[in-house]
Amino acid sequence: MGGGGRIDTAHHESKAMKALDETAELAKAVETAVRMVDLEETLVVVTSDHSHTMTYNGYSRRGSNVLGLANKMNSSSGLPYSILSYATGPGHRSDSNHDFRLDDMDSLNYTYPSLFPMVRETHGGEDVAVFAAGPWAHLFTGNYEQNFIPHAIAYAACIGTGLQASFNSAASSPEKAQRSLPQYVFGRRGGKTPPAPANASRACSYAVL
Ligand SMILES: [Zn+2]
Repeated sequence: MGGGGRIDTAHHESKAMKALDETAELAKAVETAVRMVDLEETLVVVTSDHSHTMTYNGYSRRGSNVLGLANKMNSSSGLPYSILSYATGPGHRSDSNHDFRLDDMDSLNYTYPSLFPMVRETHGGEDVAVFAAGPWAHLFTGNYEQNFIPHAIAYAACIGTGLQASFNSAASSPEKAQRSLPQYVFGRRGGKTPPAPANASRACSYAVL
């Protein structure tokens, strides 16, 4: 298991350049991990437990530096706005006519502007993405509550005390196995899921052996 913990702390400080740099580093770590495993027998899941309030403000010109300013002028003050900003955080400017062209936005420690003044930026509340590859990756499609994710990983890896793929595995009935997991986690029947790929039960077979 790997984690990009500094993405979170950088966002809390509204240091968007650091947060994006840490995100790029996490992407490299994921690429390395994917190269090191056989996706025919290893499930790889990449996700986050929450978002942040950073927004990518629109209408900048193609090729603009995402860490800089949008070329469009703010209609009320005639001043440009930053492409990135936060809804909450320490970067609040009491002066609504602050001229961001005077700021050192090339600094790694530049604090991006926020709407509400907070000592630390808050987490965000929207849905986050889940990326999966390998056996049982099809379980991670659609929209679902976050607590489904560890159940699905445990199911695919045949670990833990909950439902496991080996109990009613793809070898006997892949359709039944797919339907029963959301039913088990949420206490209701899940939606229609796509058919299991040919290698769906391989990770489980290896774990059991
Ligand atoms: Zn946090």
